[in-house]
Amino acid sequence: MKIAMLARNAKLYSHQRLVEAAEERGHTLDILNTTRCTVNIASHRPTITYDGETISGYEAVIPRIGASITNYGLAVLRQFEMAGIWPLNESVAIGRSRDKLRSMQILAKHGLGLPLTAYANDPKQAEEIIKAVNGPPVVIKLLEGTQGIGVVLAETMSSAKSVIEAFRGANVNILVQEFIKEAGGTDIRALVVGGKVVAAMKRTGAADDFRSNLHRGGSAQIIKITPEERSTAVRAAKHMGLNVCGVDMLRSNHGPVLMEVNSSPGLEGVEKATGIDVAGKIIAFLEGHAKMGVTKTRGK
Ligand code: ADP
Repeated sequence: MKIAMLARNAKLYSHQRLVEAAEERGHTLDILNTTRCTVNIASHRPTITYDGETISGYEAVIPRIGASITNYGLAVLRQFEMAGIWPLNESVAIGRSRDKLRSMQILAKHGLGLPLTAYANDPKQAEEIIKAVNGPPVVIKLLEGTQGIGVVLAETMSSAKSVIEAFRGANVNILVQEFIKEAGGTDIRALVVGGKVVAAMKRTGAADDFRSNLHRGGSAQIIKITPEERSTAVRAAKHMGLNVCGVDMLRSNHGPVLMEVNSSPGLEGVEKATGIDVAGKIIAFLEGHAKMGVTKTRGK
């Protein structure tokens, strides 16, 4: 099979592993730098040019679109979909997952556990919002944040109010959340591929950090998740419409609560912590499902 991968940095561990896994199974996988793809919009035949040449012959596309180029990347991916090329994750589902607020609304609608969360617009309502999520303490997050940047723990009413006022004063959109103290600076990342959890790890933040992001100096270990955590991860992936994703959860007193569903999960932390060939499982899933012209949304 001839597979394309939309990615910017060909040298990233995750991208290299997907190339290796594809080649081991006798496929070819070309990494196309998303920003060098040009979308040619014409009603009769949607095409994509790469470095000036029209690309052809691909049966599947693996989107690994960075958060900083979401819009452009999704436009390129839609073009692949319109040309009938099967995407590992569909553009619509990726777009949904990139919007934290929208994701949480969808997950909540389907009855999945989330921390109490409020969306603040008017800083005059700060106190009301803090109380609505049973705080203080509260966690305040930038809607556009990634890798734990812009996630703040405010322990008192006055600090929470000033953080909310500062962010809103700078016209930044924020979520205010119940602080899940009992998670103890640890979260769970479950890798879902084709409706199954194929690997799971526990991430623990650097000393004195309540954030467990590996990018913030956290460490990862293999973990056996509970059946409830497993079904939460699988249902989250299903409702987001993602074939492949990383589902982040915290262990709260009232069961697993979802943090985020990531449509381009990094493979390095999870493969190294668990010893599981996640890249191989992704390619095996792709092999079993990729077919020309069967994209559900076809870019819609
Ligand atoms: P990002 O998308 O930037 O990684 P997250 O919302 O996942 O931001 O938060 C980063 C980390 O901060 C989480 O992995 C978790 O360890 C911690 N965290 C986030 N929200 C809460 C919360 N409500 N209660 C306790 N810890 C939290």
